[in-house]
Amino acid sequence: MEIRTRFAPSSTGYLHIGSMRTALYSWLFAKRFNGTFILRIEDTDIKRSNPLFVKNILKTLKWLGIDWDEGPYFQSKRLFLYKKNINKMLKIGAAYKCYCSMNRLKKIRLLQILKGEKPRYDQKCRNMFSNKYINNDYVVRFKNPNHGTVMFHDQIRGKIIFNNIELDDLIIQRQNGMPTYNFCAIIDDLDMNITHVIRGEDHINNTPRQINILKSLNAKIPTYAHVSMVVDNNKNNLSKRKNSSSILAYKKEGFLKESILNYLLKLGWSYGNKEFFYLEEMKKLFSLQTINKSSSTLNIKKLLWFNYHYLNTLPINNDLINYFKKHLYKSKIFCEDEVKLKRIIEIFRKRCKTLKEIVLKSQFFFYDIKYIDKKLINKYLFINYKSIFTVIYNKLFDMKYWNDKNIMILIKTISLQFQLSIQQICMPLRIFMTGTNNSPSISIIMDIIGKKESLKRIKKLLYYSDK
Ligand code: GLU
Ligand code: ZN
Repeated sequence: MEIRTRFAPSSTGYLHIGSMRTALYSWLFAKRFNGTFILRIEDTDIKRSNPLFVKNILKTLKWLGIDWDEGPYFQSKRLFLYKKNINKMLKIGAAYKCYCSMNRLKKIRLLQILKGEKPRYDQKCRNMFSNKYINNDYVVRFKNPNHGTVMFHDQIRGKIIFNNIELDDLIIQRQNGMPTYNFCAIIDDLDMNITHVIRGEDHINNTPRQINILKSLNAKIPTYAHVSMVVDNNKNNLSKRKNSSSILAYKKEGFLKESILNYLLKLGWSYGNKEFFYLEEMKKLFSLQTINKSSSTLNIKKLLWFNYHYLNTLPINNDLINYFKKHLYKSKIFCEDEVKLKRIIEIFRKRCKTLKEIVLKSQFFFYDIKYIDKKLINKYLFINYKSIFTVIYNKLFDMKYWNDKNIMILIKTISLQFQLSIQQICMPLRIFMTGTNNSPSISIIMDIIGKKESLKRIKKLLYYSDK
Protein backbone atom coordinates (compact mmCIF):
# COMPACT_ATOMS: atom_id res chain seq x y z
CA MET A 1 0.00 0.00 0.00
CA GLU A 2 1.31 3.43 -0.90
CA ILE A 3 1.46 5.76 2.10
CA ARG A 4 -0.20 9.11 1.43
CA THR A 5 -0.15 11.85 4.04
CA ARG A 6 -1.08 15.48 3.91
CA PHE A 7 -0.58 18.79 5.62
CA ALA A 8 -3.76 20.83 5.52
CA PRO A 9 -3.24 24.23 7.13
CA SER A 10 -5.99 26.81 7.15
CA SER A 11 -4.81 30.03 5.61
CA THR A 12 -6.02 32.01 8.59
CA GLY A 13 -2.70 32.55 10.32
CA TYR A 14 1.06 32.29 10.20
CA LEU A 15 2.71 28.91 10.21
CA HIS A 16 3.93 28.50 13.78
CA ILE A 17 6.01 25.96 15.68
CA GLY A 18 3.06 23.73 16.54
CA SER A 19 1.63 23.34 13.04
CA MET A 20 5.08 23.15 11.55
CA ARG A 21 5.91 20.24 13.80
CA THR A 22 2.74 18.45 12.65
CA ALA A 23 3.72 19.15 9.04
CA LEU A 24 7.21 17.78 9.68
CA TYR A 25 5.89 14.57 11.26
CA SER A 26 3.44 14.06 8.44
CA TRP A 27 6.16 14.66 5.84
CA LEU A 28 8.68 12.42 7.59
CA PHE A 29 6.18 9.62 7.84
CA ALA A 30 5.55 9.76 4.09
CA LYS A 31 9.29 9.97 3.35
CA ARG A 32 10.10 7.11 5.67
CA PHE A 33 7.91 4.80 3.59
CA ASN A 34 8.62 6.34 0.19
CA GLY A 35 5.11 7.67 0.21
CA THR A 36 3.47 10.81 -1.08
CA PHE A 37 3.11 14.04 0.85
CA ILE A 38 0.31 16.37 -0.17
CA LEU A 39 -0.12 20.04 0.61
CA ARG A 40 -3.65 21.33 0.87
CA ILE A 41 -4.63 24.85 1.82
CA GLU A 42 -7.94 25.01 3.66
CA ASP A 43 -9.21 28.41 2.60
CA THR A 44 -12.99 28.11 2.66
CA ASP A 45 -13.28 30.45 5.63
CA ILE A 46 -13.41 33.45 3.33
CA LYS A 47 -13.60 36.01 6.11
CA ARG A 48 -10.48 34.93 7.94
CA SER A 49 -8.41 33.55 5.07
CA ASN A 50 -5.71 35.75 3.66
CA PRO A 51 -3.31 35.20 0.72
CA LEU A 52 -0.61 36.68 2.94
CA PHE A 53 -0.86 33.61 5.17
CA VAL A 54 -0.73 31.29 2.15
CA LYS A 55 2.51 33.01 1.17
CA ASN A 56 3.85 32.62 4.68
CA ILE A 57 3.00 28.90 4.75
CA LEU A 58 4.59 28.14 1.37
CA LYS A 59 7.68 30.20 2.12
CA THR A 60 8.20 28.46 5.45
CA LEU A 61 7.90 24.97 4.02
CA LYS A 62 10.28 25.86 1.20
CA TRP A 63 12.81 27.36 3.57
CA LEU A 64 12.87 24.24 5.71
CA GLY A 65 13.02 21.96 2.68
CA ILE A 66 9.68 20.29 3.38
CA ASP A 67 8.78 19.64 -0.23
CA TRP A 68 5.38 18.36 -1.29
CA ASP A 69 4.73 15.79 -3.97
CA GLU A 70 1.24 17.02 -4.79
CA GLY A 71 -0.47 20.36 -4.45
CA PRO A 72 -0.83 22.90 -3.15
CA TYR A 73 -4.52 22.23 -3.57
CA PHE A 74 -6.83 25.06 -2.59
CA GLN A 75 -10.21 24.10 -1.18
CA SER A 76 -11.74 27.29 -2.55
CA LYS A 77 -11.10 25.89 -6.02
CA ARG A 78 -12.72 22.54 -5.27
CA LEU A 79 -16.22 23.65 -4.29
CA PHE A 80 -17.74 21.66 -7.16
CA LEU A 81 -16.46 18.46 -5.56
CA TYR A 82 -18.04 19.19 -2.19
CA LYS A 83 -21.28 20.22 -3.84
CA LYS A 84 -21.36 16.99 -5.83
CA ASN A 85 -20.93 14.93 -2.67
CA ILE A 86 -23.52 16.87 -0.73
CA ASN A 87 -26.03 16.18 -3.49
CA LYS A 88 -25.05 12.54 -3.43
CA MET A 89 -25.55 12.35 0.31
CA LEU A 90 -28.95 14.02 0.07
CA LYS A 91 -29.89 11.56 -2.60
CA ILE A 92 -28.87 8.45 -0.69
CA GLY A 93 -30.45 9.80 2.49
CA ALA A 94 -27.22 10.29 4.40
CA ALA A 95 -27.93 13.98 4.78
CA TYR A 96 -31.00 16.21 4.97
CA LYS A 97 -32.06 19.79 4.64
CA CYS A 98 -32.81 21.60 7.86
CA TYR A 99 -35.09 24.62 7.65
CA CYS A 100 -35.08 25.54 11.31
CA SER A 101 -34.71 29.23 11.99
CA MET A 102 -31.87 30.57 14.10
CA ASN A 103 -34.48 31.60 16.62
CA ARG A 104 -35.80 28.10 17.00
CA LEU A 105 -32.30 26.66 17.32
CA LYS A 106 -31.49 29.22 19.99
CA LYS A 107 -34.61 28.37 21.91
CA ILE A 108 -34.05 24.61 21.98
CA ARG A 109 -30.46 25.20 22.93
CA LEU A 110 -31.48 27.36 25.87
CA LEU A 111 -34.05 24.84 27.02
CA GLN A 112 -31.53 22.03 26.90
CA ILE A 113 -29.05 24.05 28.90
CA LEU A 114 -31.70 24.87 31.49
CA LYS A 115 -32.49 21.16 31.78
CA GLY A 116 -28.80 20.47 32.26
CA GLU A 117 -28.54 18.62 28.95
CA LYS A 118 -25.77 18.87 26.40
CA PRO A 119 -26.98 21.24 23.64
CA ARG A 120 -27.80 19.33 20.51
CA TYR A 121 -29.95 19.73 17.42
CA ASP A 122 -33.28 17.98 18.09
CA GLN A 123 -33.48 16.45 14.60
CA LYS A 124 -36.85 18.02 13.84
CA CYS A 125 -36.17 18.15 10.09
CA ARG A 126 -34.48 14.76 9.94
CA ASN A 127 -37.60 12.77 9.41
CA MET A 128 -39.66 15.24 7.49
CA PHE A 129 -40.89 13.68 4.28
CA SER A 130 -42.51 16.42 2.31
CA ASN A 131 -40.53 19.38 1.19
CA LYS A 132 -43.25 21.87 1.82
CA TYR A 133 -40.82 24.70 2.28
CA ILE A 134 -40.19 26.56 -0.91
CA ASN A 135 -37.65 29.01 0.27
CA ASN A 136 -33.98 28.23 0.04
CA ASP A 137 -33.12 29.05 3.60
CA TYR A 138 -31.81 25.75 4.73
CA VAL A 139 -28.62 24.16 5.89
CA VAL A 140 -27.66 20.60 5.06
CA ARG A 141 -27.05 18.32 8.01
CA PHE A 142 -25.38 14.96 8.17
CA LYS A 143 -27.55 12.15 9.52
CA ASN A 144 -25.30 11.00 12.29
CA PRO A 145 -26.18 7.53 13.61
CA ASN A 146 -28.29 7.83 16.76
CA HIS A 147 -27.06 4.60 18.29
CA GLY A 148 -23.86 2.73 18.91
CA THR A 149 -20.35 3.98 19.08
CA VAL A 150 -17.62 5.08 16.77
CA MET A 151 -14.12 3.86 17.45
CA PHE A 152 -10.65 4.36 16.00
CA HIS A 153 -7.09 3.36 16.86
CA ASP A 154 -5.07 6.50 17.15
CA GLN A 155 -1.43 5.77 16.32
CA ILE A 156 -0.28 7.94 19.21
CA ARG A 157 -3.09 7.68 21.73
CA GLY A 158 -4.42 4.17 21.22
CA LYS A 159 -8.08 3.18 21.13
CA ILE A 160 -10.55 6.08 21.20
CA ILE A 161 -14.32 5.59 21.45
CA PHE A 162 -17.15 8.10 21.14
CA ASN A 163 -20.85 7.50 21.70
CA ASN A 164 -22.81 8.42 18.63
CA ILE A 165 -25.49 10.00 20.75
CA GLU A 166 -22.99 12.66 21.77
CA LEU A 167 -22.35 13.68 18.21
CA ASP A 168 -24.66 16.23 16.70
CA ASP A 169 -26.20 16.12 13.23
CA LEU A 170 -23.39 18.15 11.85
CA ILE A 171 -24.05 20.98 9.42
CA ILE A 172 -22.18 20.17 6.24
CA GLN A 173 -23.48 23.02 4.11
CA ARG A 174 -24.32 26.48 5.38
CA GLN A 175 -27.28 28.60 4.36
CA ASN A 176 -25.12 30.48 1.88
CA GLY A 177 -24.35 27.22 0.12
CA MET A 178 -20.78 26.94 1.42
CA PRO A 179 -19.65 23.55 2.69
CA THR A 180 -18.24 23.44 6.22
CA TYR A 181 -14.73 22.62 7.37
CA ASN A 182 -15.32 19.04 8.48
CA PHE A 183 -17.01 18.15 5.26
CA CYS A 184 -14.39 19.63 2.96
CA ALA A 185 -11.61 17.98 4.93
CA ILE A 186 -13.20 14.56 4.76
CA ILE A 187 -14.11 14.77 1.07
CA ASP A 188 -10.57 15.86 0.28
CA ASP A 189 -8.98 13.13 2.37
CA LEU A 190 -11.14 10.69 0.46
CA ASP A 191 -10.51 12.22 -2.96
CA MET A 192 -6.77 12.43 -2.35
CA ASN A 193 -6.59 8.84 -1.11
CA ILE A 194 -5.03 9.86 2.18
CA THR A 195 -3.98 6.75 4.10
CA HIS A 196 -2.71 8.46 7.27
CA VAL A 197 -4.22 11.60 8.74
CA ILE A 198 -1.57 13.11 11.00
CA ARG A 199 -2.85 16.31 12.55
CA GLY A 200 -3.19 18.36 15.70
CA GLU A 201 -4.92 17.03 18.79
CA ASP A 202 -7.39 19.91 18.52
CA HIS A 203 -9.10 17.91 15.78
CA ILE A 204 -9.65 14.79 17.84
CA ASN A 205 -13.34 15.60 18.34
CA ASN A 206 -13.82 16.01 14.61
CA THR A 207 -12.50 12.54 13.88
CA PRO A 208 -15.60 10.48 14.93
CA ARG A 209 -17.83 12.83 12.93
CA GLN A 210 -15.59 12.51 9.93
CA ILE A 211 -15.44 8.73 10.26
CA ASN A 212 -19.24 8.56 10.33
CA ILE A 213 -19.47 10.62 7.16
CA LEU A 214 -16.92 8.38 5.47
CA LYS A 215 -18.89 5.32 6.53
CA SER A 216 -22.08 6.78 5.09
CA LEU A 217 -20.24 7.05 1.78
CA ASN A 218 -18.94 3.51 2.09
CA ALA A 219 -15.42 4.85 2.02
CA LYS A 220 -12.27 3.39 3.50
CA ILE A 221 -11.31 4.95 6.85
CA PRO A 222 -7.76 6.31 7.01
CA THR A 223 -5.47 5.73 9.96
CA TYR A 224 -5.35 8.64 12.40
CA ALA A 225 -2.59 10.11 14.54
CA HIS A 226 -3.31 13.16 16.67
CA VAL A 227 -0.23 15.08 17.66
CA SER A 228 -0.38 16.95 20.98
CA MET A 229 -0.24 20.71 21.22
CA VAL A 230 2.77 22.97 21.65
CA VAL A 231 2.17 25.48 24.42
CA ASP A 232 4.02 28.54 25.66
CA ASN A 233 5.38 29.02 29.18
CA ASN A 234 1.94 30.02 30.41
CA LYS A 235 0.49 26.80 29.04
CA ASN A 236 -1.41 28.62 26.28
CA ASN A 237 -1.59 27.28 22.77
CA LEU A 238 0.62 29.22 20.40
CA SER A 239 -1.19 31.93 18.53
CA LYS A 240 -1.04 31.78 14.77
CA ARG A 241 -2.23 35.34 14.64
CA LYS A 242 0.98 36.68 16.08
CA ASN A 243 3.75 37.22 13.60
CA SER A 244 6.26 36.62 16.39
CA SER A 245 5.31 32.95 16.67
CA SER A 246 5.68 32.47 12.93
CA ILE A 247 8.56 30.18 11.95
CA LEU A 248 9.82 32.87 9.59
CA ALA A 249 10.35 35.13 12.60
CA TYR A 250 13.09 32.68 13.63
CA LYS A 251 14.62 32.96 10.20
CA LYS A 252 14.81 36.71 10.71
CA GLU A 253 16.57 36.09 14.01
CA GLY A 254 19.25 34.09 12.24
CA PHE A 255 18.31 30.55 13.18
CA LEU A 256 19.46 27.79 10.87
CA LYS A 257 16.95 25.52 9.21
CA GLU A 258 18.84 22.47 10.47
CA SER A 259 18.35 23.51 14.09
CA ILE A 260 14.68 24.40 13.60
CA LEU A 261 14.01 20.99 12.07
CA ASN A 262 15.96 19.16 14.74
CA TYR A 263 14.24 21.14 17.48
CA LEU A 264 10.78 20.48 16.01
CA LEU A 265 11.53 16.81 15.62
CA LYS A 266 12.67 16.43 19.21
CA LEU A 267 9.85 18.57 20.56
CA GLY A 268 7.57 15.62 21.11
CA TRP A 269 9.43 12.70 19.57
CA SER A 270 12.38 10.62 20.71
CA TYR A 271 14.75 7.98 19.54
CA GLY A 272 16.57 6.69 22.61
CA ASN A 273 18.85 9.42 23.91
CA LYS A 274 19.85 10.66 20.51
CA GLU A 275 19.70 14.46 20.27
CA PHE A 276 21.03 15.39 16.85
CA PHE A 277 19.44 14.34 13.60
CA TYR A 278 20.28 15.39 10.10
CA LEU A 279 17.45 15.32 7.61
CA GLU A 280 18.45 12.02 6.05
CA GLU A 281 18.60 10.38 9.48
CA MET A 282 15.19 11.75 10.44
CA LYS A 283 13.70 10.25 7.31
CA LYS A 284 15.13 6.86 8.17
CA LEU A 285 14.30 6.77 11.86
CA PHE A 286 10.99 8.51 12.24
CA SER A 287 7.99 6.60 13.56
CA LEU A 288 4.61 7.59 14.94
CA GLN A 289 4.80 5.29 17.92
CA THR A 290 7.36 7.30 19.89
CA ILE A 291 5.55 10.61 19.60
CA ASN A 292 4.77 12.08 23.01
CA LYS A 293 1.20 11.96 24.23
CA SER A 294 1.46 15.03 26.41
CA SER A 295 1.74 18.61 25.22
CA SER A 296 5.17 20.14 24.71
CA THR A 297 6.36 23.50 25.94
CA LEU A 298 8.15 25.82 23.59
CA ASN A 299 11.67 26.30 24.93
CA ILE A 300 13.72 28.96 23.18
CA LYS A 301 16.84 28.09 25.18
CA LYS A 302 16.77 24.59 23.78
CA LEU A 303 16.29 25.94 20.28
CA LEU A 304 19.29 28.24 20.79
CA TRP A 305 21.26 25.27 22.04
CA PHE A 306 20.52 23.38 18.82
CA ASN A 307 21.35 26.44 16.80
CA TYR A 308 24.70 26.83 18.51
CA HIS A 309 25.43 23.19 17.77
CA TYR A 310 24.64 23.47 14.07
CA LEU A 311 26.31 26.85 13.70
CA ASN A 312 29.47 25.25 15.04
CA THR A 313 29.34 21.95 13.23
CA LEU A 314 27.95 22.70 9.79
CA PRO A 315 30.50 23.46 7.08
CA ILE A 316 30.76 27.17 6.30
CA ASN A 317 29.59 26.73 2.73
CA ASN A 318 28.00 29.09 0.23
CA ASP A 319 24.54 28.58 1.68
CA LEU A 320 25.64 29.65 5.12
CA ILE A 321 27.67 32.56 3.77
CA ASN A 322 24.72 33.78 1.71
CA TYR A 323 22.44 33.51 4.69
CA PHE A 324 24.95 35.55 6.69
CA LYS A 325 25.10 38.11 3.88
CA LYS A 326 21.33 38.52 4.00
CA HIS A 327 21.47 39.21 7.70
CA LEU A 328 24.19 41.77 7.11
CA TYR A 329 22.04 43.51 4.47
CA LYS A 330 19.41 44.01 7.12
CA SER A 331 22.00 45.97 9.10
CA LYS A 332 22.79 47.89 5.91
CA ILE A 333 26.14 46.17 5.54
CA PHE A 334 26.86 45.14 1.98
CA CYS A 335 29.85 42.88 1.73
CA GLU A 336 30.59 40.55 -1.15
CA ASP A 337 34.02 39.42 0.05
CA GLU A 338 33.18 35.79 0.73
CA VAL A 339 36.58 34.87 2.11
CA LYS A 340 36.24 37.63 4.66
CA LEU A 341 32.69 36.59 5.55
CA LYS A 342 33.76 33.01 5.99
CA ARG A 343 36.56 34.00 8.36
CA ILE A 344 34.21 36.17 10.37
CA ILE A 345 31.79 33.28 10.87
CA GLU A 346 34.73 31.06 11.74
CA ILE A 347 36.04 33.24 14.53
CA PHE A 348 32.66 34.23 15.95
CA ARG A 349 30.58 31.10 15.87
CA LYS A 350 32.04 29.74 19.10
CA ARG A 351 30.79 32.87 20.86
CA CYS A 352 27.38 33.26 19.22
CA LYS A 353 24.15 31.33 19.08
CA THR A 354 22.61 32.89 15.98
CA LEU A 355 23.79 34.58 12.81
CA LYS A 356 22.10 37.77 13.94
CA GLU A 357 24.32 37.74 17.00
CA ILE A 358 27.37 37.40 14.76
CA VAL A 359 26.14 40.37 12.73
CA LEU A 360 25.81 42.45 15.89
CA LYS A 361 29.24 41.48 17.17
CA SER A 362 31.10 41.85 13.91
CA GLN A 363 30.06 45.37 12.88
CA PHE A 364 33.59 46.68 13.46
CA PHE A 365 34.86 44.65 10.53
CA PHE A 366 32.83 46.72 8.16
CA TYR A 367 33.22 50.22 9.53
CA ASP A 368 35.32 51.94 12.16
CA ILE A 369 33.70 52.27 15.56
CA LYS A 370 32.58 55.79 16.17
CA TYR A 371 32.43 55.70 19.91
CA ILE A 372 35.05 54.24 22.20
CA ASP A 373 34.21 53.96 25.85
CA LYS A 374 36.36 56.39 27.89
CA LYS A 375 36.48 53.95 30.78
CA LEU A 376 38.11 51.34 28.59
CA ILE A 377 40.67 53.82 27.33
CA ASN A 378 41.55 54.90 30.86
CA LYS A 379 41.81 51.36 32.02
CA TYR A 380 44.05 49.99 29.28
CA LEU A 381 45.96 52.91 27.82
CA PHE A 382 48.93 54.44 29.66
CA ILE A 383 51.11 57.50 29.11
CA ASN A 384 54.18 55.71 27.83
CA TYR A 385 52.08 53.88 25.26
CA LYS A 386 52.45 56.59 22.71
CA SER A 387 56.09 55.67 22.03
CA ILE A 388 55.50 51.93 22.21
CA PHE A 389 52.56 52.03 19.81
CA THR A 390 54.44 54.33 17.49
CA VAL A 391 57.04 51.58 17.15
CA ILE A 392 54.24 49.07 16.56
CA TYR A 393 52.65 51.34 14.00
CA ASN A 394 55.91 51.70 12.06
CA LYS A 395 56.67 48.01 12.15
CA LEU A 396 53.18 47.18 10.95
CA PHE A 397 53.51 49.84 8.30
CA ASP A 398 56.63 48.12 7.00
CA MET A 399 55.15 44.64 7.22
CA LYS A 400 55.45 42.97 3.86
CA TYR A 401 53.15 40.00 4.37
CA TRP A 402 50.11 41.05 6.29
CA ASN A 403 48.80 38.00 8.09
CA ASP A 404 47.86 36.99 11.59
CA LYS A 405 51.04 35.00 12.21
CA ASN A 406 53.32 37.93 11.40
CA ILE A 407 51.16 40.29 13.42
CA MET A 408 51.37 37.95 16.42
CA ILE A 409 55.15 37.62 16.10
CA LEU A 410 55.43 41.37 16.10
CA ILE A 411 53.25 41.74 19.19
CA LYS A 412 55.40 39.16 21.01
CA THR A 413 58.65 40.84 20.02
CA ILE A 414 57.44 44.23 21.19
CA SER A 415 56.22 42.81 24.48
CA LEU A 416 59.70 41.43 25.16
CA GLN A 417 61.38 44.59 24.04
CA PHE A 418 59.30 46.83 26.34
CA GLN A 419 58.85 44.26 29.09
CA LEU A 420 55.09 44.27 28.88
CA SER A 421 52.73 41.32 28.91
CA ILE A 422 51.10 40.34 25.63
CA GLN A 423 47.77 41.38 27.10
CA GLN A 424 49.07 44.87 27.79
CA ILE A 425 49.67 45.28 24.08
CA CYS A 426 46.68 43.35 22.80
CA MET A 427 44.11 45.15 24.94
CA PRO A 428 44.63 48.67 23.58
CA LEU A 429 44.73 47.22 20.07
CA ARG A 430 41.54 45.30 20.75
CA ILE A 431 39.75 48.37 22.07
CA PHE A 432 40.65 50.43 19.03
CA MET A 433 40.01 47.67 16.51
CA THR A 434 36.73 46.37 17.93
CA GLY A 435 35.47 48.93 20.45
CA THR A 436 35.35 46.25 23.16
CA ASN A 437 37.73 44.50 25.54
CA ASN A 438 36.44 41.10 24.60
CA SER A 439 37.00 39.59 21.18
CA PRO A 440 38.61 36.67 19.40
CA SER A 441 42.36 36.77 18.68
CA ILE A 442 43.45 40.30 17.86
CA SER A 443 46.02 39.25 15.29
CA ILE A 444 43.34 37.40 13.29
CA ILE A 445 41.02 40.37 13.62
CA MET A 446 43.68 42.77 12.32
CA ASP A 447 44.45 40.38 9.52
CA ILE A 448 40.80 40.39 8.46
CA ILE A 449 40.37 44.14 8.90
CA GLY A 450 43.38 44.64 6.62
CA LYS A 451 46.54 46.68 6.79
CA LYS A 452 45.27 50.07 5.73
CA GLU A 453 42.27 50.12 8.03
CA SER A 454 44.20 48.64 10.98
CA LEU A 455 46.86 51.36 10.69
CA LYS A 456 44.15 54.01 10.56
CA ARG A 457 42.70 52.70 13.82
CA ILE A 458 46.12 52.60 15.50
CA LYS A 459 46.57 56.24 14.56
CA LYS A 460 43.50 56.96 16.60
CA LEU A 461 45.05 55.01 19.46
CA LEU A 462 48.16 57.18 19.21
CA TYR A 463 46.00 60.26 19.29
CA TYR A 464 44.24 59.12 22.45
CA SER A 465 47.40 58.05 24.23
CA ASP A 466 48.55 61.66 24.00
CA LYS A 467 45.64 62.86 26.09
N1 GLU B 1 -7.14 23.08 8.54
C1 GLU B 1 -6.96 22.49 9.82
C2 GLU B 1 -6.08 23.36 10.69
O1 GLU B 1 -5.36 24.18 10.17
C3 GLU B 1 -6.35 21.11 9.77
C4 GLU B 1 -7.30 20.12 9.29
C5 GLU B 1 -6.78 18.71 9.28
O2 GLU B 1 -5.56 18.50 9.36
O3 GLU B 1 -7.62 17.84 9.16
O4 GLU B 1 -6.12 23.22 11.89
ZN1 ZN C 1 -34.39 21.70 11.20
